[in-house]
Amino acid sequence: MSIPISTLGTPRIGPHRELKTALEAFWAGKQDDTALLATAAQLRAANWARQSLLGVTHIPSNDFSLYDQMLDMSTVLGAIPAHYGWRSGPVPLSTYFAMARGSQGQAHDGCAHGGHGGAGVPALEMTKWFDTNYHYMVPEFRRGQSFELASTKPIDEFREAAGLGFHTHPVLIGPITYLTLGKATDSNFDPLSLLPGLLPVYAELLRGLAAAGADWVQLDEPCLVLDLDEKTRAAVRLAYDELATATSDLKIMMTTYFGGLGDNLGLALNLPVAGLHLDLVRAPGQAQRLVREAPAGKILSLGVIDGRNIWRSDLSATLERIEPIVAALGPHRTVLAPSCSLLHVPYDLEAETGLDAELKGWLAFAVQKIGELKTLSSALVGGRRSVADALARSDAAAAARRASPRIHDSAVSARLTAVTPAMAERQHPYPLRRRAQQWLGLPPLPTTTIGSFPQTAAVRKARSDHAKGRIGNADYQRFLREETARAVAWQEEIGLDVLVHGEFERNDMVQYFGEQLAGYAFTQHGWVQSYGSRCVRPPIIYGDVWRPRAMTVEWASFAQSLTKRPVKGMLTGPVTMLQWSFVRDDIERAEVCRQIALALRDEVRDLEQAGIRIIQIDEPAIREGLPLEHAEREAYLSWAVACFRLASCGVDDATQIHTHMCYSEFNDIIHAVGGLDADVISIETARSKMELLDAFRAYRYPNEIGPGVYDIHSPRCPTIDEMRDLLAKARERIAGDQLWVNPDCGLKTRGWDEVRPALVNMVAAARILRTETTPAKVATSA
Ligand code: GLN
Ligand code: ZN
Repeated sequence: MSIPISTLGTPRIGPHRELKTALEAFWAGKQDDTALLATAAQLRAANWARQSLLGVTHIPSNDFSLYDQMLDMSTVLGAIPAHYGWRSGPVPLSTYFAMARGSQGQAHDGCAHGGHGGAGVPALEMTKWFDTNYHYMVPEFRRGQSFELASTKPIDEFREAAGLGFHTHPVLIGPITYLTLGKATDSNFDPLSLLPGLLPVYAELLRGLAAAGADWVQLDEPCLVLDLDEKTRAAVRLAYDELATATSDLKIMMTTYFGGLGDNLGLALNLPVAGLHLDLVRAPGQAQRLVREAPAGKILSLGVIDGRNIWRSDLSATLERIEPIVAALGPHRTVLAPSCSLLHVPYDLEAETGLDAELKGWLAFAVQKIGELKTLSSALVGGRRSVADALARSDAAAAARRASPRIHDSAVSARLTAVTPAMAERQHPYPLRRRAQQWLGLPPLPTTTIGSFPQTAAVRKARSDHAKGRIGNADYQRFLREETARAVAWQEEIGLDVLVHGEFERNDMVQYFGEQLAGYAFTQHGWVQSYGSRCVRPPIIYGDVWRPRAMTVEWASFAQSLTKRPVKGMLTGPVTMLQWSFVRDDIERAEVCRQIALALRDEVRDLEQAGIRIIQIDEPAIREGLPLEHAEREAYLSWAVACFRLASCGVDDATQIHTHMCYSEFNDIIHAVGGLDADVISIETARSKMELLDAFRAYRYPNEIGPGVYDIHSPRCPTIDEMRDLLAKARERIAGDQLWVNPDCGLKTRGWDEVRPALVNMVAAARILRTETTPAKVATSA
């Protein structure tokens, strides 16, 4: 007898990002759909085989996706907005990818000339999946809409696995999470009101899975870890009462993760479902209630290995915690699992040949985490002595990490102790700084970009050639200087007001800095999916962070030497550096963040001294760090804002500090965004059609702000009219002299053929607006 092991979901991009390669070849028209789908099938087969070999008993299916699991659900349920042109029946791949990425439409020359023709359709909105760095495509609902089973993907993939000899547990996003994370096109209705029409389609799907031979289905309901109102809790009951009776042949495992169930624990335990998964890593405290309150016969899946971080578990300590739980519940009623799907960690530590043995000994990726679950399962059934060797290795690793001299640096702690409140204040409040910054000579509605320009095939090739020693340092530097000079000249030519150097030397906005800071380590293959085909390789912060030498001054100064217009220096902020890394778990996150802030403060000062008088400190990740539990939010915002200010406030009034934010909606933290006291913020809004501006009904943004007018996540090129309309809309809420004109985000993922016409149009839109008079008063109702 052993305790079953489940993974809840696995990485799907492929150990060598095979899916990314295939998707991008398909989008570029270099590969047909047959080739793409064949790669996808191979990846699924390899995932199932790997898990089976490692001893996973509950292997998931339908955890694979060509782009995103929420988008898959929208396709399965036929929740496809009318403008994508789908009416009924199977959803073509072209429709699926149009929802993911937008489509260019027919007429290709319309854009460059600012015409109206062939604008195509924009992508669905994309936003953060809870507090992870994964992005999902937001379902869009209209009042009274109906659903139908438009794709049988979950059933097909279950059958596909069965054909290969793997009996799997299909994974679906549950109906409550699906609706709650969606968005109503009409602000006056609640997506949850669509539940009665949605449930029959879920029921049909469950019956289909049962008919195909499934005995368990995993319904992911992470929204149960949020604070839910009574109406939503009633919807949860209604949904699961109905789904439980849909078919008697299929057992439901409801999975919750990214936090504890809190007030929803009783509700979740008493639903008529066969099993419940809980995150006991983020919320170990719920174990006691679980043991006391779980109804007899309910299967409990214990999320005991961290699915969000890459540290090796201290297995003896974990056993200490879970032995009493398993003893109380009985081994036949428990399943062992990671806290959440393994989607958020890389595949296999063994692939890392560049990490030193000491550091490697502290880590575990997906494969190793499954191994840890296996050890725990054996220990719980056969006793700790049956896995004495594995436990001894785990004990030794935990002890070695605690005692390692690489982790603590007394100079870093001394600097932190010496931080004063004045260090987080500018010399004067913004209105005075504004005057001091007038020497910059910017026009009204200044135009700028967010920092990066296209990372073309040539740029990527030069970087990899350089990394592999195929071209020398001098040649590589010459190449980068040429790219930078070309970008600067082109920005001048099209008339942008504040220029950027283009970030050609950067592999990634976090990695580039991490590689130059002490306390960081990097993997070779530690990719995790960020959205669609985009993956990131989060650095690992294992020790105290400090800056040995200047990081960006050379590139910024070089660019500035080429032009009389101001060049913006470009840094990644402390919260984002923290948020997009795998962070050490032996000290508080806030403390790690303060260390990074001090390192960046040094860089900001050095830039200023070198004559870079506009400095942007990107904080796209500030919103995603927001704790899911309301009670913890203020504390987080207060240290996050303080860290940004510590990094940015060491400059003269006449130096203009910018920040940039994207990927999230910032309406609910807009006060904290204002509290950063950056002179200028550029912020993503184009994709959500400027919904951010709703926040300015009650809150008057104090400093300058550039709401993005160009959705850079889509290959589609915005027209002059479109951007002018967005800006006109912005001017209803933001005073004309506060307003900047910029894209939603950096342009590194786009091609020059997309970027050139779009920015030419953007500058044209700004110029038109400058000639139109500003409304005398900005409408605020508060
Ligand atoms: N400066 C960065 C860039 O342009 C910002 C990217 C981001 O916000 N994600 O690429
Ligand atoms: Zn951005």
